Amino acid sequence: MDRSLLERAVAPLLEWYRLNKRELPWRGTRDPYRVLVSEIMLQQTRVEAVKGYYTLFLEQFPTAAALAAASSDEVMKAWQGLGYYSRARNLQNAAKIIAAEGFPSTFEGVRALPGVGDYTAGAVCSIAYNLPCPAVDGNVLRILTRLYADGSDPDGPAARASFSALLKEVYPPEAGDFCQALMELGAIVCLPNGAPLCGSCPWQSFCRVHLAGEEEKYPVRPPKKARKRVELKVFVLKCGDEYALNKRGKGLLAGLWEFPNFEGEAPDFGKILAKKRAKYIFTHVEWQMTGYLTEAKEKFPQYVWATAEEIEKNYAIPSAFKAFSEWVK
Ligand code: SF4
Repeated sequence: MDRSLLERAVAPLLEWYRLNKRELPWRGTRDPYRVLVSEIMLQQTRVEAVKGYYTLFLEQFPTAAALAAASSDEVMKAWQGLGYYSRARNLQNAAKIIAAEGFPSTFEGVRALPGVGDYTAGAVCSIAYNLPCPAVDGNVLRILTRLYADGSDPDGPAARASFSALLKEVYPPEAGDFCQALMELGAIVCLPNGAPLCGSCPWQSFCRVHLAGEEEKYPVRPPKKARKRVELKVFVLKCGDEYALNKRGKGLLAGLWEFPNFEGEAPDFGKILAKKRAKYIFTHVEWQMTGYLTEAKEKFPQYVWATAEEIEKNYAIPSAFKAFSEWVK
């Protein structure tokens, strides 16, 4: 790949970033723990959604030691609504390592923390330590495949590897700014859906897809696989003023509290008071749910029972079940 094109793109991008970057709560910090928290929260989650969580989370757990010492239910509660809960579990496990051994100072050390992949390790090392470690995610691949009019699949490992190698060669001394500038360009100018805002882009005079007027043809994605659909019966079991909760085992949403639910046949729990349908879409699975508000025949011992107030305070119930939470009052 032609390195000179990316070399040429570095200075205008940095200049553009200095003038146009958004004020975000995590901008300006170089504390590696804070950078790590922001990067983990931003995985698969929109900036707008992360803003409030980031500040509150750090008020509650201002250091890795504070996060390491918290109970896992406290951490899940603070994460509630942000989704992809394995991130919170991994983050706490990472905090335990950091609290015991100090924050790792190399890419390999950061990469070895639980829940940290190449992208997050690259972002943490660039932003906190100014190291030339590329952080290449879908956003960055979108803008680079457009800059180069490169037809490789932006979700495939080949594009990631070749653009990472190329970025490494052109990394400027302001590594942290460069890393964030690439992300920022993808977030506010070279947008994923619909037309990119090329008129505001620092690369418009040499970006190959823009010069060819083919912005929307890139990145080139192979056709998507269909999501797996799962039919679930979800029971909000009420006994007196208490409701039944179950702690999920392994797999999707592991370790979180849920209303009892079943993929196939469900037991007869009692009198059904209300019924409604809802769906929830995960990355690879779609839950088609029928919810039943049910007056339980007895306080079934396989479940934990809690009042609406206790649930609100102490139990993290994932957003997937939100449609049925309104029955708990
Ligand atoms: S000129 Fe347009 S297509 Fe090219 S990088 Fe900028 S915003 Fe994206």
